[in-house]
Amino acid sequence: MRTPSLSPAARSGRRSFPERLFGRWWRKQSPAQQDRFATFGPLVSVLLFLAAIILAFWYLRNEEFEREQESVKRDTEIAQQQIRVRLIDNQDQLLRMARELVQRPAGPEEFAAQAATAWRGRQELTRLLWIDAGREVKGFHVAAGFEPDIGLAADDVGLSLPLAGRDSPAETAFLSARMQRQPVYSEPFVAAGGNAVVQLHVPLIERAGFAGVLVAEYSVDALLRHHVADDVARRHTMSLLDARGRLLASTVLPVPGEAARPASILYQVPLAPVSNGLVLQGQGHRTSIGLISNTLFWMVAALSVLTVWMLLGTWRHMRRRLQMQDTLAQEANFRRAMENSMLTGMRAMDKEGRITYVNPAFCAMTGFSESELIDRRPPFPYWPPDRYEENGRLLHQELRGRSPAGGIEVKVMRKDGSLFDARMYVSPLIDPKGHQTGWMTSMTNITEAKRVRDQLSASHERFTTVLEGLDAAVSVMSVQQGELLFANRSYRLWFGADERGHVLMAGGEIGVSMLDAGDEVDDLGGLPTQEITEAGSDSREVHVAALGKWFDVRARYLQWTDGRLAQMLIATDVTARRHAEALATAQAAKAEVTSRLVTMGEMASSVAHELNQPLTAISNYCNGMVSRVRNDAIAKDDLIAALDKTARQAQRAGQIIHRIRSFVKRSEPQRQACEARAIVDDAVELAGIELRRRNVALHTYVAQRLPPVMADPILIEQVLLNLLKNAAEAIDGAGLPGARRNIELRVVPRHTPEGGMIEFSVTDMGPGIRDEVIARLYEAFFSTKVEGLGIGLSLCRSIIESHQGRIRAENLYNGESVTGCRFTFTLPVASSRADAGATRTDPASPRAEASAPPSLPAVTP
Ligand code: ADP
Repeated sequence: MRTPSLSPAARSGRRSFPERLFGRWWRKQSPAQQDRFATFGPLVSVLLFLAAIILAFWYLRNEEFEREQESVKRDTEIAQQQIRVRLIDNQDQLLRMARELVQRPAGPEEFAAQAATAWRGRQELTRLLWIDAGREVKGFHVAAGFEPDIGLAADDVGLSLPLAGRDSPAETAFLSARMQRQPVYSEPFVAAGGNAVVQLHVPLIERAGFAGVLVAEYSVDALLRHHVADDVARRHTMSLLDARGRLLASTVLPVPGEAARPASILYQVPLAPVSNGLVLQGQGHRTSIGLISNTLFWMVAALSVLTVWMLLGTWRHMRRRLQMQDTLAQEANFRRAMENSMLTGMRAMDKEGRITYVNPAFCAMTGFSESELIDRRPPFPYWPPDRYEENGRLLHQELRGRSPAGGIEVKVMRKDGSLFDARMYVSPLIDPKGHQTGWMTSMTNITEAKRVRDQLSASHERFTTVLEGLDAAVSVMSVQQGELLFANRSYRLWFGADERGHVLMAGGEIGVSMLDAGDEVDDLGGLPTQEITEAGSDSREVHVAALGKWFDVRARYLQWTDGRLAQMLIATDVTARRHAEALATAQAAKAEVTSRLVTMGEMASSVAHELNQPLTAISNYCNGMVSRVRNDAIAKDDLIAALDKTARQAQRAGQIIHRIRSFVKRSEPQRQACEARAIVDDAVELAGIELRRRNVALHTYVAQRLPPVMADPILIEQVLLNLLKNAAEAIDGAGLPGARRNIELRVVPRHTPEGGMIEFSVTDMGPGIRDEVIARLYEAFFSTKVEGLGIGLSLCRSIIESHQGRIRAENLYNGESVTGCRFTFTLPVASSRADAGATRTDPASPRAEASAPPSLPAVTP
């Protein structure tokens, strides 16, 4: 048999119309609304269910109530009917007795016997009384069980008997019966013995009229007890009430001490034929059972509440689940976005090494698409063919969870065959149950990083090679911790690996204290306030006795790689230079002496001539005195005068020799504050010898109150002598006439930007200096003279410059023609610069001294 397979359309076609309608409506709702309906639908249906249950209960209760009411009514009416029938029957019996008594009066005994016969079996009747018109009891009968020994004493039956003038129910009924001549029921009352009773008065009517009454007294209680059927009494409570609603008797005795509950189902009927307000009341037993006390109802209510509560709980739970679902979805999206945007390649493998996942970055890095990689087993397509074995080993290690935490470096081949370096990190993949399902590997391209690292290490290597290869010791020490941060090979060679060498070269002071303390140091940080690049970049020369070496030390502050302030020292071994400088200085001194000797040599003939005069004079004086003494032609005073003159001449000769000696004497250069005038005087005296020989006049002007100059007087004297001699030689050499054979020496103060100076100038009226000569004036061994050595001016300049002075030469003109030349030099005054020069340990000065006479070594003989 073919099973019908239905297309979705057919299936939907089979759906009922309301189903389709509901489906259409449902789809029209927004998800939030659907959610709301799904949540509140069950809640509403449970509430509706509860309402329906309550309604059903209410309806059933009503139904039951009505049925009960009906039943009470019926039973009450049945009881009333029974009682009525009995009462009517009794009344008939009593009427019969009344008739018989009227027709045939009987004695009391006879009456009692008749009554006992007639009333046997009528338990409701308590008493039967025969009372005549004068209210006299003529006979009576007491029912069995009701006070059998009760007599007719007024006390016993007082209340039951009519008494003229008394307002009692018995009297009232008697009067009514007498008046109406019809049977009359009395009002209920409580008779002797405590029983509620009702009396029926039947009038005895004779021909003569009213002859008394027959009174039947009923026990109300017995009436109920004997004339309400048992099943009726079981079902409902029957009670008799008087006209005022007081309870006279009831089939159910009230439980003592318990207040009778008001009945909700009551039915009352007047007790006919007793037309005296007596009421029979039927009362439903179950009237007190309310809706609220119904267990079933409460169970249903409790179940409904439980269902609603559980629905709300489910709803809340669902909401939480939804929120979690949302969060999860967000988290998943976030992770996916992160994964896709990430530059790190991600690859997941199962425990067998099969690729289960690759992210876009991994594909971009390797050039393979996702489909080319997923489900691949080793060897993977991105393994370089020559590295299968190595990669296989690494993968094996990876799968066994033994990859190093720092990652592994591998070569990866792109799809186009090019290679790159990558670093891979491996971590286990754990599923939600905590079981490991595989491995997740991240891959970063480190080609660039590796290149940079290689470059860095190469540059570092270059840097260290250069630093290590330096002849200078380079060391860096942190300022605050006093810790040696760097030392190159030369440093280690000379000072070892500790910081003592650094401290020694820094002048025994560490770090910041090398700077001038005070203003330049920040009180708070202890750091130099000036820019560290400028700080302490001055160099100083330090002698290390232990090594027997001189170092030129340059200090500089810098920020170390970790940000700390550090001091870098570069100590260059300058021992050789110091030696050369010392040598040069010694040679310069020698050269100066030599030059002075040369000058003196040149002046030798003049000096000889100069010395000749006093010696000739001495000789003449001596000869004259000898001849006059021989002739005895001299007076003692004349002799003394002549001897004085001789002695003076000898002194003069001695002076000349002393001056020459002190000029050429070899002595250490000594700078001191000295008067310009004294230097000028000495120089002029020596030069005078030459000037006189060459017949050149010298005019000297020295300004008054000149400050002392800081100089070596012998050297300055040498300079002056040289200039004066050159001037005289120029004038003499040019063979100028007497008018131009003049030299002027002037010494005046000068103010220059460098401070106070004293200017010496030697002006001659000679032929001047030719241009080509001016350019080479200070060149050593340059001379225009046949016998000139050409070292005079070169020496003059080095002497002046070593005194921080300047020397210059210029021609003097009168129009176009040269009228002479002037040499000018300056010397700083002692008070300012000279002081500084004396106290300075400035390395500049020895260097200046050393560098000025470049030609000196050659000068040395
Ligand atoms: P020397 O005197 O041995 O030649 P110097 O160095 O003293 O060596 O002088 C160098 C040259 O400078 C001289 O040869 C001369 O030509 C020139 N000279 C120096 N002083 C004068 C001067 N006052 N007038 C002209 N020329 C001069």
